Amino acid sequence: MESIVLLGSTGSIGVNTLEIAKRYNIKIEALVAGRNIELLNAQIAKFNPKMVAISHLEDKDKVAHNNVFIGNEGIEEIIKRSKSKMVVNALVGYAGVRPTMMAIECDKQIALANKESLVVAGEFIDMSKISPIDSEHFGLWYLQNQRAFSKLYITASGGALREWKLEDMKNASFAEALKHPNWSMGNKITIDSATMTNKLFEMLEAKWLFNTNNIDAVIEKKSIIHALVEFVDGSTTAHFAGVDMKLPIAFALGLEINEPILKPVDLLSIGELEFKKIEENRYPIWAIKEDILLNPHRGVVINASNEEAIWAFEQNRCDFFGMSDIVLDAYKRFEDIKPTSFEDIIKIDREVRAYIAKGEK
Ligand code: NDP
Repeated sequence: MESIVLLGSTGSIGVNTLEIAKRYNIKIEALVAGRNIELLNAQIAKFNPKMVAISHLEDKDKVAHNNVFIGNEGIEEIIKRSKSKMVVNALVGYAGVRPTMMAIECDKQIALANKESLVVAGEFIDMSKISPIDSEHFGLWYLQNQRAFSKLYITASGGALREWKLEDMKNASFAEALKHPNWSMGNKITIDSATMTNKLFEMLEAKWLFNTNNIDAVIEKKSIIHALVEFVDGSTTAHFAGVDMKLPIAFALGLEINEPILKPVDLLSIGELEFKKIEENRYPIWAIKEDILLNPHRGVVINASNEEAIWAFEQNRCDFFGMSDIVLDAYKRFEDIKPTSFEDIIKIDREVRAYIAKGEK
């Protein structure tokens, strides 16, 4: 692959993607970022993209480039104009969904970190266009290797509050919920890890990517095993790898890897390994895990309400468990939705957000 378009270049996945691009001499045709213009300018100087997009018009003059596009329309314009066959979508949240749809329309291949795209609109996405940037799904793909399986497992770290007493969790602050024990990631996914919403999203992601409902998740606190596949013959294999997104990124870019991207795992230093059940009293969102796999079209409701809930938690308008209260309430309220197109999805997303805003007044 000669070049890529990189959406979300200044984020955690974006920065790692640029490291892989540099190592394998992949050109960067376009960079898309939000408000971190200082880092974006450093990336422009290093990678010399032909086009750039940012989220806010008022930042335009600060960008050291003469071909700058603005906002969601700007991102879409860049995807349309680009010649690269691959778009890496490392935008966070709902902002990344439309660009995924646009990239598919433009017949691009998508290395997809923006798992919200699959949660919200999986039904309307052609999976042959997607290679996921997620350690669990990369692990599943690596293990499965086209063989017949009976069940897929992904692992969860348990998130920032996993060692907290249950009665204290309610009072956790936003900053405390951001202290992930194993991974360094963007804020949103880190909060989603603390509530287990991230794992719920990954179950949906696995459902679409591997076309099965036979998926479960367990807690593995060391985050050294990311996925396990149970095969029809009764054997189960596990994927071990270091805590680093560069490996899934390199494979999602379709690179042929014949050298270490990560340091191999040192088995003797791992010590004991333990798998634990995800308890609903600590992670109330887990109550809908079976239901959402059977009704994946309701992912749009979970995503919209979850984004609103995180925002409310950040602004101290609800406590830690208040986030799952908001999501579970919306999930029930919008039980009967039946989106038949991506336009329906956009409408439902708006309705859910308006419902939550009204409830808070
Ligand atoms: P970050 O918050 O670190 O990065 C998000 C990126 O998106 C930043 O470059 C940000 O720009 C940009 N951005 C946000 N909103 C807009 C917008 N409206 N217009 C243009 N750019 C925008 O997130 P992560 O890298 O952690 O996560 C990205 C995605 O990857 C998420 O969906 C996450 O779930 C998924 N993922 C992340 C993993 C990780 O290890 N981090 C692992 C697996 C999946 P700026 O910062 O300049 O404002």
